[in-house]
Amino acid sequence: MTKVRTRFAPSPTGYMHIGNLRTALYAYLLTKSMGGDYILRIEDTDQERYVDGAVDLIYRTLKETGLKHDEGPDVGGDYGPYIQSERRSIYKEYAEKLVELGGAYYCFCDKERLDALKEEQVANKVPPKYDGHCKNLTKEEIDEKIKSGIPYVIRQKINPEGKTTFKDAVFGEITVENSTLDDNVLLKSDGLPTYNFANVIDDHLMNITHVIRGNEYLSSTPKYNLLYESFGWEIPTYVHVSPIIKESGKKLSKREGDASYEDFINKGYLKDAIINYIALLGWSPGGDVEIFDMDGLIKAFSISGISKSPAVFDEKKLSWLNGEYIRKLSQEEFFEKAEPYIRQAVKGDYDLRKIAVLLHDRTEKFSDIPEQIDFFDVLPEYENELYTHKKMKTNPENSLESLKLVLPVLEDINDWNQETIHNALFELIAKLEVKNGIVLWPLRVAVSGKSFTPGGGIELADILGKDETIKRIKNAIEKLS
Ligand code: GLU
Repeated sequence: MTKVRTRFAPSPTGYMHIGNLRTALYAYLLTKSMGGDYILRIEDTDQERYVDGAVDLIYRTLKETGLKHDEGPDVGGDYGPYIQSERRSIYKEYAEKLVELGGAYYCFCDKERLDALKEEQVANKVPPKYDGHCKNLTKEEIDEKIKSGIPYVIRQKINPEGKTTFKDAVFGEITVENSTLDDNVLLKSDGLPTYNFANVIDDHLMNITHVIRGNEYLSSTPKYNLLYESFGWEIPTYVHVSPIIKESGKKLSKREGDASYEDFINKGYLKDAIINYIALLGWSPGGDVEIFDMDGLIKAFSISGISKSPAVFDEKKLSWLNGEYIRKLSQEEFFEKAEPYIRQAVKGDYDLRKIAVLLHDRTEKFSDIPEQIDFFDVLPEYENELYTHKKMKTNPENSLESLKLVLPVLEDINDWNQETIHNALFELIAKLEVKNGIVLWPLRVAVSGKSFTPGGGIELADILGKDETIKRIKNAIEKLS
């Protein structure tokens, strides 16, 4: 059996869209699940879109996410060059060959003519399409025009008769009338190919067996197949994947900060959670298990699990999944990742490791951290109503009484730590014969000014230290009196 070979073929836009990363992932999973090779090809023929550093971002993201390519510009391989702009002469050679084979022709139409043609078609409400003006030039006419230096492109020659059918592994059988297909430009006047040409040449020359890409290419695929046929080449297996949309039906957008891999890393998601989540966006493993590491994904992946419907990006689900991954981190790993976020909110001289321990169970994404601990440096303004808690049976009145009793008990502690605070307060609770909440809820509110905090009053008092805790309790007593 032929070895499976898939490719990830990003254009260097300076941006790793989540949809692109998912394509990269599916191509990787597909090939690795079948023991094949994974190829990285940089599609940079659109020189106007060139962005500095964009290729490095691609390398970095693939490396970080564990999508290791077996061949590519940086690691080499037998089918290079792997950067399209370095394959210029190859495209020229094949474009000329295609002209000889009768699958393409030279076109000398200038911009003015093409613009006028388009305008006319739009006015007549017919779909814009090249009218075949240069399709039947004689060899002499062509040679003469080339010799006199008239710029030209090479267009695909499509016979408007008949239909073209192909089978996509996800979308099934697709048929189009050839009359709807345009004689697209294959080689531009600057000698560089269009995507329409380069993808076919490269996929063939690089022995790609499975083409996995966004379904925006589905409608052009018949044209690509006609190219394969003109050359007499074998057509690869196509796996087109649906777009990722938001619940609102809108696209993920760069401007709203929810479109790129880096956006999500910056929001404090873990790369493993992102990979796990996007694997599930449009692919179903067909069981109840939802948490997969890369090896698990490779084992579970199959084309038959890919869905035709657009995938809805559900950030709440990503958050949940991220929380699951956070819980699996060791305390030390968690601390390392959480520290910069803790530092955003806590500048004071507190034990950040202790704060991290409180956060570990309660964090779904790291960017939620600062807001949870914004009370360490400065006690926020708060309403006395926070002392009211139905379940704890507390209200501002009995909270005031509790805090008045808590104050001397805490002032009496010499060796201030979680255990001594705990013991002293539980002694008081036992003496008063009250429920824990009557004492502990007011303490939590008094030291944090909040009703939701990571950790309760005892843990917070320990981290805040004796002086600060006493100060905050005195402040609360005054506020409540
Ligand atoms: N360079 C194309 C893009 O970034 C890739 C399409 C493909 O995978 O063939 O959209």
